[in-house]
Amino acid sequence: MLGLDEGTHEMLATPRREVHVAVPLRRDDGTSVLFRGYRVQHNVSRGPGKGGLRYHPSVDIDEVRALAMWMTWKCAVVDLPYGGAKGGVTIDPREHSERELERVTRRYTSEIKPIIGPERDVMAPDMGTNEQTMAWVMDTYSVSEGYTIPGVVTGKPIAVGGSLGRATATSRGVVHTAKAALNEAGVDVVGASIAIQGFGKVGSHAAAIFAEEGARVVAVSDQYGGVVNRDGLDVDALFTHVAATGTVVGFEEADEISNHGLLGLEVDVLVPAAVEGVLDEITAQQVRARFVVEGANGPTTGEGDTILAKNGVVVVPDVLANAGGVVVSYFEWVQANQAYWWTEPEISERLEHRMHSAYADVSALARREDVSLRDAALAIGVQRVAEAHEIRGLYP
Ligand code: NAD
Repeated sequence: MLGLDEGTHEMLATPRREVHVAVPLRRDDGTSVLFRGYRVQHNVSRGPGKGGLRYHPSVDIDEVRALAMWMTWKCAVVDLPYGGAKGGVTIDPREHSERELERVTRRYTSEIKPIIGPERDVMAPDMGTNEQTMAWVMDTYSVSEGYTIPGVVTGKPIAVGGSLGRATATSRGVVHTAKAALNEAGVDVVGASIAIQGFGKVGSHAAAIFAEEGARVVAVSDQYGGVVNRDGLDVDALFTHVAATGTVVGFEEADEISNHGLLGLEVDVLVPAAVEGVLDEITAQQVRARFVVEGANGPTTGEGDTILAKNGVVVVPDVLANAGGVVVSYFEWVQANQAYWWTEPEISERLEHRMHSAYADVSALARREDVSLRDAALAIGVQRVAEAHEIRGLYP
């Protein structure tokens, strides 16, 4: 579609830099154990690398590579001055104490230190890491440099330079893009029915924000199962239930539904906000939603995508729909670098503007070229990165 030459295509398909590190840990009981860690900078032609740090037993170099590339396109689609990067350590964080996780994080940071920094590569939390992890990374980096450098990470606690609005930013972006898609089809968000898979950081806040907007959140689920109420769930009461029990299952004012069943509900908007690959060649056939708004990264497989398109389901792709998190990460980095912090309304307003403008660009290209929103979003992302390469030229 973009007519890129083979050399450019290959360059964009290949990570710019990959660092593999050994991360030895002295356990609390005195024994030692070794973990593997990675940091991949897929592309840094538009600015520093940007991307999360994942702690999970299935982390490997291929997963980190793929996630790094995803970040390159995502940052370019929402037009942030960043490249794409990702890090990971192959570790199950649930099997380690807080002190052990702190030591792993500090050693990993120290090993990859030569390639990170506010102008080089900026980390953020991902699966298995959180704002405390980012505080440790920031502290380790800062101590080594000799002064405080909050811009080396985003998603850190407010007390050490985090941004207001970061915690709900991804979910806000999901709702902004969903509203834009509904709007284009002449559907009002007020009264629109919504089903959300996943009730974690993205799904739960998306449910709350959809409800605030007047939509009817009819079903939600988590890894243990789901609940449905066609009249709309009381999302505040659901939060209280989850805080008490750790799951949406058993919420009284609703019936039970499986994760599978939730995907086939007749709703206006389906938001997969849990794990990847849930809409495949089988489940995509069952989707009766008019819109799928991808809160998760990669929830739809290639085959699933083809089927949804054939059935006329509008898919707002992950690189656009869930980019609100990285947009506010960018705001956090700008604020940290200037040591000047914005108010929550300022952040909300700037986020809304970015998301609507990115949606408008993607939707206009999709209409002009008669392609899906996914193809249009990726085309815009890849084109912006290719253009940066073209203008900068090839060194030497
Ligand atoms: P999270 O760990 O906070 O929540 C994940 C939710 O999914 C939980 O409710 C969990 O119970 C549920 N879940 C896990 N396995 C499941 C399964 N097999 N079936 C159904 N539900 C299952 O994670 P999160 O931060 O909300 O991330 C969710 C997705 O959104 C991931 O794909 C992540 O990469 C993506 N994402 C997150 C952010 C962010 O800012 N947090 C930004 C962009 C993309």
